[in-house]
Amino acid sequence: MDSLEYRKTIPVYGEYDVIVAGAGAAGICAAVAAARQGARVCLVERYGVLGGNLTVGFVGPILGMVSKGTMRDELMALLGVPENDMLGWVGVAHDFEKAKRVIADFVDIDNLTVLMQSPAVDVIKEGNRVKGLLISGNDGLKAIYGKVVIDSTGDGDISFLAGAETMKGRSDGLCQPVSLEFTIGNVDEARAVVCIGDVDDVKLGDEPFLEYCRRCAENGELPPELAAVRLHRTVTPGQRQVNTTQLNRIDGTDTASLFRAEAALRRQIGIITDFLRSHLPGYEDCRVISSGATLGVRESRRVRGEYILTREDVVDGARFPDVAVHKAEFIVDIHNPEGAGQAEATIQYCTPYDIPYRCFVPLGIDGLLTAGRCISGTHDAHASYRVMSICMAMGEAAGVAAAICAKQDALPRDLDVSLLQQRLMEKGVDLFSE
Ligand SMILES: Cc1cc2nc3c(=O)[nH]c(=O)nc-3n(C[C@H](O)[C@H](O)[C@H](O)COP(=O)(O)OP(=O)(O)OC[C@H]3O[C@@H](n4cnc5c(N)ncnc54)[C@H](O)[C@@H]3O)c2cc1C
Repeated sequence: MDSLEYRKTIPVYGEYDVIVAGAGAAGICAAVAAARQGARVCLVERYGVLGGNLTVGFVGPILGMVSKGTMRDELMALLGVPENDMLGWVGVAHDFEKAKRVIADFVDIDNLTVLMQSPAVDVIKEGNRVKGLLISGNDGLKAIYGKVVIDSTGDGDISFLAGAETMKGRSDGLCQPVSLEFTIGNVDEARAVVCIGDVDDVKLGDEPFLEYCRRCAENGELPPELAAVRLHRTVTPGQRQVNTTQLNRIDGTDTASLFRAEAALRRQIGIITDFLRSHLPGYEDCRVISSGATLGVRESRRVRGEYILTREDVVDGARFPDVAVHKAEFIVDIHNPEGAGQAEATIQYCTPYDIPYRCFVPLGIDGLLTAGRCISGTHDAHASYRVMSICMAMGEAAGVAAAICAKQDALPRDLDVSLLQQRLMEKGVDLFSE
């Protein structure tokens, strides 16, 4: 049988001003920002924990920077993350357990309904306009209606289901590798190296640490794809956040390939821990404390919007009249889609840049906004704006925009962006400073 025609009457669970699909860095900020504007909001999340990569994905530190006054500052304070320097270069990973509690409290506000364990499985559309979502629960399918829907699913699921044009990977379609992060404890702080990646020139003795790891990989002491051993500090002394497992050529939206990828990454956790114990001073007695509940997808669908942010924009510090996020800053950080580590030749420093509102507005589909890593940008630009600080600020801007549209009964495409900017600035967000 090739296909099944399925008909069933589906109960309507509720009608909202704004629906936010996906409760990661972008989604939680979008939902809270819209609700603080007075909108009736429904936040739907497929898992039983809120936070996306901030919690379930075990991703830290929270990297990147945006201008002052956004929800990113509020969340960093709530999470208790020390601000080390502007870009989080020497940042420490936050406490994932604390994040679960903080985020649950953050979204627990009156006009915000949170539906967990409720994956969005389809969109309700009239013509080209998204009117709501079908969500699945243990009581079956439910329909929810919203004047504006925000796609903050990371993978752009909602936009894809709505028929929006999506892009994936670089020109040959290959995406950045998937990884499964984990935390180790029992590390001797006084002797143990910290390494955040290829831009870090940390040494082991006289030798650059990552060169040492590459030499071990050449000698067969470490699998070649694991040669970039990234070991971040966490807020707890004696721990390291390990961002080293990696699998190439995986499409994070192809569910059929996810189990084997996850199993392989979990095997790598053992291999890396053995390597740390046997090779690195200070790691002799380290042990795995915990790992992400699911593998992490760095890159999948990017939804084509009214503007596509480019490498030149992020490197040259582009400014746009319809700025929604200002002074976004992080390197173009492309983890090698074909080999180990970062694709070195492509790493480039950025000048703080604007993300224009048009990147959130999918071409040809109405009633829909995007926020987070699925917004409209090239493979290269995405490698900069995908980090969590920037995703939080995007979510906030999209949430305020959606609330204004819902109140005015306007389509996101027709929003007077100066009104969005005014609301953000009233709240203290810097959008225009040099
Ligand atoms: C291995 C790895 C390491 C990284 N390292 C760093 C780092 O050190 N620092 C940094 O700042 N960034 C890092 N990043 C990037 C960053 O974590 C992500 O780009 C960022 O979290 C994206 O935020 P988001 O809100 O768009 O998506 P996510 O955080 O992925 O959140 C999406 C949410 O949507 C939910 N969802 C998905 N589909 C549906 C659906 N159909 N229905 C309902 N809910 C749905 C998901 O469960 C999830 O909660 C890393 C990413 C990976 C994968």
